[in-house]
Amino acid sequence: MPVTPARSVESAAAVPQASIPVMTVIRRGLSRRCPRCGDGAVLKGYLTRLPSCDACGEDLSHISADDGPAWATLMVVGHVLAPFLIILGRDERIPVWMAIAVLAAMMLAGVWWCLPRFKGLFIALIWRTGATGKDPFTHPAHQDAESHNRGDG
Ligand SMILES: [Zn+2]
Repeated sequence: MPVTPARSVESAAAVPQASIPVMTVIRRGLSRRCPRCGDGAVLKGYLTRLPSCDACGEDLSHISADDGPAWATLMVVGHVLAPFLIILGRDERIPVWMAIAVLAAMMLAGVWWCLPRFKGLFIALIWRTGATGKDPFTHPAHQDAESHNRGDG
């Protein structure tokens, strides 16, 4: 097991997230690694998000990927399988049961492979952009609406 030098973890924690290139964050996300340091894992097991990076301690508890990874997985796996669906479905030499079995196996393998990687990607992109969706009430437009509603009430 590789030992991470303490130097890189300390320097990683000092780097502002906006200064880390988006492509680096995307690469770290797809490999299910911490978007800040690239060393620690962001997922425990198959899909459970860790509350913080186990290498640099970056707080990830406020980040929720929600349905994003499932959406991205469907987009990719669905489009990759679409031609096979047409080919296997139109070829009369291939029994229907075999076409269904082959397509189901390809779909399951694609989903199994894509889902955790897209979850890492969404966590990394949300971390990089700060788009956690947790602070809608601090938006100036929403504050105006709130004060307007209070004045009416
Ligand atoms: Zn980290």
